[in-house]
Amino acid sequence: MGSTQLTGRVIFKGDPGYTEAIKNWNPYVDVYPLVFVFAQNSYDVSNAIKWARENKVPLRVRSGRHALDKNLSVVSGGIVIDVSDMNKVFLDEENAIATVQTGIPVGPLVKGLARDGFMAPFGDSPTVGIGGITMGGGFGVLSRSIGLISDNLLALKTVDAKGRIIHADQSRNEDLLWASRGGGGGNFGYNTQYTFKVHRAPKTATVFNIIWPWEQLETVFKAWQKWAPFVDERLGCYLEIYSKINGLCHAEGIFLGSKTELIRLLKPLLHAGTPTEADIKTLYYPDAIDFLDPDEPLPGRNDQSVKFSSAWGHDFWSDEPISIMRKFLEDATGTEANFFFINWGGAISRVPKDETAFFWRHPLFYTEWTASWKNKSQEDSSLASVERVRQLMQPYVAGSYVNVPDQNIENFGKEYYGANFARLREIKAKYDPENVFRFPQSIPPSR
Ligand SMILES: Cc1cc2nc3c(=O)[nH]c(=O)nc-3n(C[C@H](O)[C@H](O)[C@H](O)COP(=O)(O)OP(=O)(O)OC[C@H]3O[C@@H](n4cnc5c(N)ncnc54)[C@H](O)[C@@H]3O)c2cc1C
Repeated sequence: MGSTQLTGRVIFKGDPGYTEAIKNWNPYVDVYPLVFVFAQNSYDVSNAIKWARENKVPLRVRSGRHALDKNLSVVSGGIVIDVSDMNKVFLDEENAIATVQTGIPVGPLVKGLARDGFMAPFGDSPTVGIGGITMGGGFGVLSRSIGLISDNLLALKTVDAKGRIIHADQSRNEDLLWASRGGGGGNFGYNTQYTFKVHRAPKTATVFNIIWPWEQLETVFKAWQKWAPFVDERLGCYLEIYSKINGLCHAEGIFLGSKTELIRLLKPLLHAGTPTEADIKTLYYPDAIDFLDPDEPLPGRNDQSVKFSSAWGHDFWSDEPISIMRKFLEDATGTEANFFFINWGGAISRVPKDETAFFWRHPLFYTEWTASWKNKSQEDSSLASVERVRQLMQPYVAGSYVNVPDQNIENFGKEYYGANFARLREIKAKYDPENVFRFPQSIPPSR
């Protein structure tokens, strides 16, 4: 036993609050840790790291509880250092810089910034934590206009494996800043503060929502892939195709321009198949964000488990991958299954591959596919169906998104980080040589 005491809001197994603390967005990842430390500041994080090492207890860091595979932000019998009580935002309007504690979910963050007249890239779920999403890249429908969340990261404050509080920016620990812009959460340090560049928001933006019958998925997907990666880069659009039993195709997005111009740009998509609904409207910018990112219950209120896998499409999909998608969605028997796509390009692709740890700069689109279940009896078949698609899709995709990880991927270094993996391993060796921050598919130190 060492001398360090745990500080902050500490909840041991059996204490009041423990049953709430163990719940994550995805019940599939839930386990029973020994203790949660809800840190109130960087010193609480530091004490918890030292305590874990002195007591030889495994450790993890958690922000928004949205980890999509097992044992990433929670660990059975270990300590979970949770930063979600640290959720303050300091906006420097004059210099367009936001300094953010790492426990704030992206919804309150982007909505608060929007009301103050600023825009920042965000994801499609307001309850995702800025702590985790930033580290793996972080994209949304504004990313073609203003880049990934990690592209806008200017500096961070973190606690290293020895419990030391350190800063990284362009002049101090510059390699750690490089690694934190896409290198994946939990690897290098437990972050307590991020500093972001933010952008002046337009007064208004135009949003859209289009729905087609499920049976038109081939027509819709073919039109979308020929259009979305090349359209005006002020336009971000995702496409979701649900399982046949839940049945529909759905495109949604934002255009930083007028409705007239958007209607013109959307023509190839609106002329694909026969949309049953097409809602296009110009809104006051904060209302546009609310439209795209409606409030949803906090993590832990979800009773549905989900298995994800992700990849990038670098070429147009021929009939073969489209038929793999169709069969997966046709055969799905769990509560839900879907294929999700978002268009790439624009500001994301202008950053060189080695300028930050985020490697996948030039695909046409990102994709992920999921199967969900409520009943444990459907778990094995759901997991197997997602893995089958991953195997079948190998010839048609490359890479995978570290924020939507899949522990079935063996060669994960290359898949998540491409040619940046070697440098990430060197930086890991510098900041965590003893590999204290170790978890499934974490970056191994180079020596
Ligand atoms: C419903 C849903 C929608 C999503 N939508 C998008 C989207 O639109 N765009 C997108 O890019 N991604 C999206 N994601 C993926 C998301 O980026 C990842 O799930 C992300 O890791 C979640 O971060 P978190 O803090 O909420 O999760 P957590 O479970 O708290 O953490 C996830 C990972 O980040 C690490 N981490 C958390 N906090 C810190 C910290 N302070 N310091 C260092 N590491 C930390 C954890 O250790 C863990 O490895 C979505 C996920 C879900 C479930």
